Amino acid sequence: TILADQIAAGEVVERPASVVKELVENSIDAQSTQIDINIEDAGLKKIEIIDDGIGINHDDVEIAFKRHATSKINNQRDLFKVQSLGFRGEALPSIASVSDVHLKTSTGDEGTQIHIKGGEIKKIKPAEARRGTSICVEDLFFNTPARLKYMKTIKTELAKISDIVDRLAIGHPDVAFSLVHNQREILRTSGRGQLQQVIGDIYGAKNLKRIIKIENSDNDFKISGFVSLPELTRASRNYVTITLNGRYVKNYALFKAITDGYGSKLMVGRYPIAVLNIELDPVLTDVNVHPTKQTVRISKEDQLCNLVAKTIYDTIYQENL
Ligand code: ADP
Ligand code: MG
Repeated sequence: TILADQIAAGEVVERPASVVKELVENSIDAQSTQIDINIEDAGLKKIEIIDDGIGINHDDVEIAFKRHATSKINNQRDLFKVQSLGFRGEALPSIASVSDVHLKTSTGDEGTQIHIKGGEIKKIKPAEARRGTSICVEDLFFNTPARLKYMKTIKTELAKISDIVDRLAIGHPDVAFSLVHNQREILRTSGRGQLQQVIGDIYGAKNLKRIIKIENSDNDFKISGFVSLPELTRASRNYVTITLNGRYVKNYALFKAITDGYGSKLMVGRYPIAVLNIELDPVLTDVNVHPTKQTVRISKEDQLCNLVAKTIYDTIYQENL
């Protein structure tokens, strides 16, 4: 029901940035090579995502907007096994229940166009379209005033959108992203597949000279990525990105291991630009954290943190200074 969708929406779509995250993840799951994100008024007025992915079959479009009875995963461990970013089948119905959605999609031959407002299908019909999907979400939270009131300033909401798009771009260097807000381009990545290139696109090409590769492993973990050298001045806590088996996560112990290795203790208020990709057996991830929250607990966390801190420290201080 629409009410059930709105309740689910309370969990899945907290703010415009969560809508952007869910829609871009759908585009990534659809094997898109180019994803263009067009935002107005920090997404409160409009969020438009255009991809060149596999599209949705005409017969599946309505189903995509219905909450799936079954989920692809049973617990959080499975989350780190599934290849696709989406797994709950909740995002589209949740978003559509609290906004005005126009979607146009094509698998290459037949195309479909659908208009849903407040969870109600207003129109669905065949449509000419190139392969891929474009979705436009307008008037977010128009029918949930309590949620709307909870929104912060345009500047804050936009910062959250920009932050999540940065993380998704870092996690997918082989996808060309663009992010435009009120006609102004905020981010563009080339999609040429080099993580280093994406870091340059996001944090500035001149920083690239000061960024070095990290790589190490032990019996349980394989880590790789990049970290900036300490002379680099422009960096905030936000410039640290951690992925676990390809999925962007938040984990304070790992964040601290990265900044410890970098030497933040000695350089108060200074943080690196860092991307840390971790590969592990999903069995080592904790199942007790809610999947949508992005936070994750890892068994043998101390061992992993030591590996991370030591690798970063050694790479920066023994090989490069
Ligand atoms: P989930 O991603 O968890 O499966 P969603 O509600 O996000 O659930 O999406 C529902 C379904 O709609 C997806 O499983 C996918 O089949 C389809 N879909 C959504 N967005 C796209 C897209 N951009 N390209 C192709 N298929 C899509
Ligand atoms: Mg999804």
